[in-house]
Amino acid sequence: MSNKVNGSCLCGEVTCDVSGPFDRFYQCHCDRCQKKSGSAFASLLFTSYDKIVWLSGEKSTKRFDLPNAERFSNAFCTHCGSQVPYISRDGKFLVTPAGFLNDDPQIVPQANIFIGEKACWYEAGQSATNFERYPT
Ligand SMILES: [Zn+2]
Ligand SMILES: [Zn+2]
Repeated sequence: MSNKVNGSCLCGEVTCDVSGPFDRFYQCHCDRCQKKSGSAFASLLFTSYDKIVWLSGEKSTKRFDLPNAERFSNAFCTHCGSQVPYISRDGKFLVTPAGFLNDDPQIVPQANIFIGEKACWYEAGQSATNFERYPT
């Protein structure tokens, strides 16, 4: 079974379809993912490299390969800085940031990985007060 999941960056320049089903969905709490996401963790979906069809803006994407890292990369829209899908350095996997997707990926997070590196404020954030919009 295959399902097409559409995604786009914040500015709309980069758009693509990814064919599911996704193989893995991890929330990575490593300190590198905290840097690249600007948040507590990166939500990443994995499939084989050939599951993406670019609709627009592929040339506006850039993949940064962290020197001295075995496999860590960060790919983003060069206009708005949003994380976008990329092919892993070894060419085997397509890595899709879950927040990039506009549709339901039909899979929920399977694991929190590198939890030992979690942000010192992560746990507290889980029980912070909720507001529908800005606090009043
Ligand atoms: Zn963009
Ligand atoms: Zn990570």
